[in-house]
Amino acid sequence: MGESLATLPSVAFQPGALQPEPRPSGEIDYRLARRRLLAAFRAGRVARHEVCDAHPELRRAGAQVGTPTRQRCPVCDDALLSHVTYVFGPRLPAFGRCITSTHELQRLAQRKGEHTAYVVEVCPHCAWNHLVRAWVLSPGSTR
Ligand SMILES: [Zn+2]
Repeated sequence: MGESLATLPSVAFQPGALQPEPRPSGEIDYRLARRRLLAAFRAGRVARHEVCDAHPELRRAGAQVGTPTRQRCPVCDDALLSHVTYVFGPRLPAFGRCITSTHELQRLAQRKGEHTAYVVEVCPHCAWNHLVRAWVLSPGSTR
């Protein structure tokens, strides 16, 4: 418990507020929801501050421990998106644990109880953020 994660973000986002798009594989894909949200934003039905609302901790995680992508931010087009992984489950913080390595993900997958991983994309520049995918961890499967 703790380890070097003490300074890492523990408060990031609440999965309860999200509307998943279930797929046959059991994995949840959020691309459709993302497309709809961006379309609403471009049409002026959703304000910028509503889509660029990443929690400061999430922004920091994106900048410091996130996995850089080659994808430009769909809102500001000014920075590359970063992927941050959080895991929720028994004996983990209520707002999830920010995962910084595949090894850590593998360790959590071995634990008893259901653990769910969420990958969030975040723009370090404008604070755009959205869920990319979510899945239930199981031993031997870490993505
Ligand atoms: Zn941006």
